[in-house]
Amino acid sequence: MINKIKILHLEDNPEDAELIARELKKAEMGAEIIVVDNKLKFELALQNFTQDIILSDHSLGSFDSHQALSMVKQMGITVPFILITSAMSDEFAVNVMKQGAHDYIIKDRLQRLPSAIINSINKHHLEKEQQALQERLFFHIENTPLGFIEWDNRGFAKRWSTRAEEIFGWSEQEFIAGQEERFSLVYSKDLSKVNALFDQMLSSNIVRNTFQIRNITKGGRVIWCEWFNSVLKDEEQNVKTIMSLVQDITEQKELELQKDNLLTMVSHELNTPLTTIKGYGQMAENMLQLKGDKETLHLIKRMETHVNSLTGLVKRLLDFNETKNGKLLYNKIFTDFNALVKDVVDDLQMTTSTHVIETNFDNTAIIFADKDKLCQVLTNLVSNAVKYSPQADRIVINTTLENDGVQLSVKDFGIGILLKDDNKIFEQFYRVSADQSTFPGMGIGLYICSEIIKGHGGKIWYTSNIGQGSTFYCWLPLNDQNVNTV
Ligand code: ADP
Repeated sequence: MINKIKILHLEDNPEDAELIARELKKAEMGAEIIVVDNKLKFELALQNFTQDIILSDHSLGSFDSHQALSMVKQMGITVPFILITSAMSDEFAVNVMKQGAHDYIIKDRLQRLPSAIINSINKHHLEKEQQALQERLFFHIENTPLGFIEWDNRGFAKRWSTRAEEIFGWSEQEFIAGQEERFSLVYSKDLSKVNALFDQMLSSNIVRNTFQIRNITKGGRVIWCEWFNSVLKDEEQNVKTIMSLVQDITEQKELELQKDNLLTMVSHELNTPLTTIKGYGQMAENMLQLKGDKETLHLIKRMETHVNSLTGLVKRLLDFNETKNGKLLYNKIFTDFNALVKDVVDDLQMTTSTHVIETNFDNTAIIFADKDKLCQVLTNLVSNAVKYSPQADRIVINTTLENDGVQLSVKDFGIGILLKDDNKIFEQFYRVSADQSTFPGMGIGLYICSEIIKGHGGKIWYTSNIGQGSTFYCWLPLNDQNVNTV
């Protein structure tokens, strides 16, 4: 709050000046007033006096309030300017306000002056604070590595930062003026996705979303961008503004592609010799069996176990690549669910000497599914159950009929899962603990499981208690009409 208001008063009638000073005193306004009565003194005072507000009579002989206001503006002074004059027309008052005066007072209604001064000064302070805030915000917007674009509710850009210009090539003016249709900077194949996401933001309660799409630059280059969008609505849910931050992630995407290609190539290259080794191993096993060489047979069997786990790893890598590229193919047939689970459990039991796999089968049902892929899901869940329960000695598998579908659960009595975001565990490369020495892994098993279950129109989820164990559930629909054919 201001203690003593510094007032610069432009007035050539000493009586009027006195009247005004008295009015302020009456209102107990602590004020330091400098009265000047001509252009030169006004100019000098503007240069030397740090006023909080200017009060000005309209006509001072050869000088008037219009000229005074222009002078104030030219000198870059922004303090409030109040015109105090005898009766004035509405048109005159509007003109003065348009020119930049903050208020006007008629001389025979001076009692309004103290509150007009306080209001104008407070408003001015608020405007200055807002301006400073806006300056800071724009400074950050212009200097972040992300482009900033503001849209109207039709999807047309209203503001475009310098960084946006660097990313897309168009200057703000060029882009804003040249928009013939909305989202003209989106690559045609991604346009329907963007339209849908944008409309969803306008019509629902969603206040923000993030997506990666391809965009087109001014030079016609296709680039990958990550968009972070937020929508500001009023109380009636009308859109006030939509703001986006955008990052060019083309390089990152290219590296990802190279990594994926390398992974695919290495997995394929490993797969071929592994299949051959496995074949020769089996031949050797048969020959040793015929010869009755139990000792060497035992060694070959141990080798086979390791070759099998290596084959499983390579298969997971190949599946991972196919899943990621949306190329996982399903060979679905009608199959008995419980029989499928039993076959896999029998095989898995042979691979673990530490845990007994108990099963409780409810009534069975015929499902339309890819047997190999479901085997893989079950194998993954059971392998995890074994891996993450080193102190336990059993795993319990249940099958039930639930909500027009079959449900499988794999329960372990291990370390449990401490996770804030439950769905993260089904994301690629996600591992609860990065510690590879205790529990080695790549974090792709559950991602593949989730994609396979989704590919069957089903659901996957889990429950867990730290130190007591976890249960992973899969539900698959019975009605083959519901099944996504991927
Ligand atoms: P990986 O086991 O190779 O790391 P997954 O995708 O199979 O990859 O599992 C992801 C993460 O989920 C694991 O790193 C582990 O932290 C957690 N997890 C999965 N299954 C279990 C389980 N049964 N008990 C405890 N944690 C588990």
